[in-house]
Amino acid sequence: TLWRIGLTGGIGSGKSTVARRLAGHGATVVDTDAIARALTAPGGAAIDALRAAFGPAAIGADGALDRAWMRERAFGEPGAKERLEAILHPMIGEQVAREAAAGRHPVCVYDVPLLVESAHWRGRVDRVWVVDCTPATQVARVVARSGWDASTVQAVIARQASRAARRAAADAVIVNEGLSLDALAAEVDHLWRQLQPAGSATTTG
Ligand code: ATP
Repeated sequence: TLWRIGLTGGIGSGKSTVARRLAGHGATVVDTDAIARALTAPGGAAIDALRAAFGPAAIGADGALDRAWMRERAFGEPGAKERLEAILHPMIGEQVAREAAAGRHPVCVYDVPLLVESAHWRGRVDRVWVVDCTPATQVARVVARSGWDASTVQAVIARQASRAARRAAADAVIVNEGLSLDALAAEVDHLWRQLQPAGSATTTG
């Protein structure tokens, strides 16, 4: 891999849409959220360890991690978030490395929703690309997509890095506000082309 691109942005900003476009150009795309979901789905590789650490209540009747239960612990009980992360992060890291290595393309895009919040991730990518839009647009998109109510989306936004913090960490900002999907794709293509000539030069920095 010549370029490790960390792609991030708040909930509903358009990360997945951008990642799909980059995959269309051939880039390897590693979706860390999808990996975390698979690990905690019924039969997932993290289920036994989570049951051992948090007790049977952590696992729902369907055999998946009970996210609502876990979220309550993680935000309310000292040390719970750290114990959860101590189990999940190494497993996620291994799967990320496997998928990145399996991809053949010189550009690997890591789709990491909380990249700016994570020193671990910021140290592992060469470039940070941020997909940015207003909170109002985030809320509108997520409500339209998932049917959550606006206050639920706002609560998620409040827990994530601020727009300013994300922009400050960015090497490139993809402003996905008032853009058609075609115009967004054109923005992504522009960034993609900028990457190509430098691909043979240094990969760090
Ligand atoms: P999450 O973090 O919640 O997974 P995300 O950042 O990956 O979100 P997407 O799933 O790419 O965001 O986009 C959220 C929704 O908004 C999708 O339904 C997507 O099709 C739509 N969307 C994103 N950008 C645009 C745009 N420029 N025009 C119209 N719809 C858009």
